[in-house]
Amino acid sequence: MNKKLSSLICIVLIIIISVPIISIAFAGKPDKGPIEKKVFIHRIKPDNPGKPPKPDGRGKEWYKYSGIHWASTNLPVTYIVDTELDYGIIETSFETWDDEISTVLLFEGVQGEVTAGIIDGINALSYGDYPDAGVIAVTYILYYSYTGEIIEVDTLFDTDYIWGDATGNPDVMDLQNIATHEFGHWLVLDDLYNRPARQQTMYGYGTYGEIIKRTLESGDIAGIQKIYGE
Ligand SMILES: [Zn+2]
Repeated sequence: MNKKLSSLICIVLIIIISVPIISIAFAGKPDKGPIEKKVFIHRIKPDNPGKPPKPDGRGKEWYKYSGIHWASTNLPVTYIVDTELDYGIIETSFETWDDEISTVLLFEGVQGEVTAGIIDGINALSYGDYPDAGVIAVTYILYYSYTGEIIEVDTLFDTDYIWGDATGNPDVMDLQNIATHEFGHWLVLDDLYNRPARQQTMYGYGTYGEIIKRTLESGDIAGIQKIYGE
């Protein structure tokens, strides 16, 4: 067999073998779909918030699950707390949720210089100025639309408000209170606006001096345990 012919056979063989291997590799990677953004805006409480309770609403476990989720390979989720924020309070707020699930450690934080609200692959928490009035905090979730897998989550605490510890000081926006609510979104719970749900941490409005959201209520716990197990 001449040299040219044998090398041609070699090339043909390589192509015949590699084409199925390449297609198997791609077939194994499902298309996760375009990236979408979900934005939760925590607004100041209006004078008459929510809708009137439905007659059958009593005794219901109040929570709403968005259906998007962290990939199990991403756990625990690493987050960065900007140096301007009180790291201890943020950590306590995350632990409030983590404490209700025994199976997995969901979040692990570090402190650094970050800006929330920009797409950079970092799960960031920081103060910042949101352009609309009446907005206390905003949580952004980026996810793949077909699989619902989360790519990045950021939370911005609006500098329009004076932040602090509202225990005994009703004139500040309580950081732990609002952070605990926002981390419910990190765990993919949605806001609740019905009046019977106003004691729940995932109730969608907040106000100065409020500290009720620092602790979880029955619906919050039922929701997180439904998603992540007890
Ligand atoms: Zn919210």
